[in-house]
Amino acid sequence: MSLDAARTEPRLERVAAEEARQRLEHARGTRLVQLEALGENGQTADDHLMSSQREAIEGVLKEIDEAFARIEDGTYGTCLGCGKPVPAERLEILPYTGHCVSCRRRTA
Ligand SMILES: [Zn+2]
Repeated sequence: MSLDAARTEPRLERVAAEEARQRLEHARGTRLVQLEALGENGQTADDHLMSSQREAIEGVLKEIDEAFARIEDGTYGTCLGCGKPVPAERLEILPYTGHCVSCRRRTA
């Protein structure tokens, strides 16, 4: 008992971190498939549209990587803007987001 109390609990519980990782893995898988599909249709479609789509997906992949890093350092689920917890339901929809709704609105 005393051992447990002495250990500092990470902000994110192990189970929640595991769920977050799975959501991020899934989000990354989806983006990689999209990126591949874009590559396959390479020469046909509008090049400009293609490259902006590609950039958008690559941007999300970068956010996903950063979210993985935040799980590792224990800051996942904390808003990078205001330091408040990002609501769980927002993380379910956007597992890679680093901002709560109001901070995202401000930066985007
Ligand atoms: Zn915020």
